Parts: sequence; structure tokens; C-alpha cells
Amino acid sequence: METQGRLIVDVARLAKGGEWYRGETAADLLDLGESEFVAPEGGMLYALKVELIGSELLVRGEVRQRLTCVCSRCAESFATEVADPEFICSHEINAATDYVDLTEEVREAIILALPGYPVCRESCRGLCMACGANLNETTCRCHELGKDNRWAALDVLKTDLDASRPKRARPREK
Ligand SMILES: [Zn+2]
Ligand SMILES: [Zn+2]
Repeated sequence: METQGRLIVDVARLAKGGEWYRGETAADLLDLGESEFVAPEGGMLYALKVELIGSELLVRGEVRQRLTCVCSRCAESFATEVADPEFICSHEINAATDYVDLTEEVREAIILALPGYPVCRESCRGLCMACGANLNETTCRCHELGKDNRWAALDVLKTDLDASRPKRARPREK
């Protein structure tokens, strides 16, 4: 049988007491479409105990996917991996069931585990909003200057207000 890299359980030949299915699917089966931040590296990895309990095919174990992500804070690429260590699914089978294809269930589990906004590390400091410098690698003075400028602007405003207020209406602040 040509499986084309899919994860297919051979139910008819499944050993009593179950079997471990370990391996990697074909690389193109995850298919994330046009994701900006996340690209799969290789196929979906699986280590699954597959057993027949009555008329139910029970599948439990772990699925993983290696990824190259773009950090949503600093825009650097980094390698990572996502996993569902408690993957579980089941299929009702009958005497006519020879094969069960688990590829789609594994794919869904991987997709649920993907980060929406990947970060290269929790402590990533990101890019400076003003000059674009990567603040993990360098420091810039934008923050400092921005702060100075902001206070300077407030001082000007305050002076103008003070000057335009009638003397007697001015609240006592001291
Ligand atoms: Zn980062
Ligand atoms: Zn800056």
C-alpha cells in the first residue's frame, strides 16, 4: 500500500496488546499555507501507542513538529519545536476496517500547539519602535531622548499655560 508519507495504522495486522507507531510523516502534509511567522522543518514526528479495545482503536502518545519561526518582537529567525505530549484519539472500527489514517488528527494537534506570536525567548527585548535597532544586540538612545523630549515639551506647555492664566485664578500648588 502506498502511504505517501501519511500515518496509517494497519488495523488488520495490529498485534494483540497494541503496537507503537514511531516515525515522521512526509514534510508537505502539515501545510500551514502562507504563514508569515512559522515554517515547518521536516515532517510531523509521532510516537504513538495504538491498540484495539473492543471495537475501538485507541491511539495515545506524543506528536511533535520542528519549526523555523520569526520572532514577533525582534524579527530574527530561530529554530524551535512544538509538541502535544498528550495526544489522544480513537476510531470506531468494524470487521471491514483494514486501515485507519491518523494524519489529519496529528495535523490538528500540531496546529493547536503552534504559537500565535512566536518569541525567540521570553526575555527578548524586541526592536526599538523609533530607530528599529535590535535591543537584544545593541542599545540606542531613543528611549532616553524621547523621555527628555517629552518632558521638554511638557515644560513648554506648562510655561505657556502659566503665562496665559490670570494671576488671581492660578491655583496654589506649593
Ligand atoms: Zn526575539
Ligand atoms: Zn532607537
